[in-house]
Amino acid sequence: MILIKEPNAMHDYVNASKRTGKRIGFVPTMGFLHAGHTSLASLCRTRESCDEVIMSIFVNPLQFGPQEDYEKYPRDMDRDTSIAEKAGVDVLFVPDASAMYPAAARTKVEVEEMSQALCGVSRPTHFRGVTTVVAKLLNIVNPDVAAFGQKDAQQFFILQRMVADLNMPVQLVMAPIVREADGLAMSSRNVYLNEEERKQALSLSRALVMAHQMIEKGETKPAVIIQRMTAIIRQQPLAKIDYVAIVETENLQPIQTIQSPALIALAVLFGKTRLIDNIII
Ligand code: AMP
Repeated sequence: MILIKEPNAMHDYVNASKRTGKRIGFVPTMGFLHAGHTSLASLCRTRESCDEVIMSIFVNPLQFGPQEDYEKYPRDMDRDTSIAEKAGVDVLFVPDASAMYPAAARTKVEVEEMSQALCGVSRPTHFRGVTTVVAKLLNIVNPDVAAFGQKDAQQFFILQRMVADLNMPVQLVMAPIVREADGLAMSSRNVYLNEEERKQALSLSRALVMAHQMIEKGETKPAVIIQRMTAIIRQQPLAKIDYVAIVETENLQPIQTIQSPALIALAVLFGKTRLIDNIII
């Protein structure tokens, strides 16, 4: 596995690869890798038939709010390098913040409206940070395919909008959520949870399973489903609900009657740790 730090070196490397006809897959991450991240690399290799898989690790300061966990976000480059290599990643791109955001930089990329829905209510500048960094990474890496997890479904739909709106020549693909054996969606932030918080956090996947079952039994009213989900989560004394919502995948606006495709998404705080999870029906 090759390690590249400089954006220009990354760009030159990919251009040389592409000249030899290679199909390039790209997996952007913030590191502290787990099986959710490595599943994206496998997806590029197998389903998307990429010849080379490039993974970036960059804890993007722009997507953290002033009171959020940028400083204490978990980082472990030695561990990540070993996991990425075992997962078959060919190139690890690890730029510095100063290379990604030189002091003179003034440009941001924002997808309007969709960035203010769901997580955007409590994290108003988060998705502008995400779209800005992903636009930059796509320009630097210039992949044929970029893989993202359904875990961050809102992020995926916003990025799809951005790529379409800006005519970016890349195909985005979404990989299913990888979960722990007990149902908790894998996340780098799960290390923040203490034993009791982690136990109570299982209410999130339970609430989503319940929603799925209600829909299979014919329930079509979002309000009824949201109420049941909320009741399940509220049974946990440490849970503080940010939102439980059922929205259209196209524009992330609430839907009146369940019809495909709909995103059922939630964000809940356990102590200081904010967890998200979702299903798409
Ligand atoms: P992050 O490092 O948290 O920014 O995530 C990098 C990529 O991995 C994003 O596309 C996430 O959606 C994806 N990802 C994170 N957790 C999971 C998971 N449990 N299952 C599938 N994909 C995930």
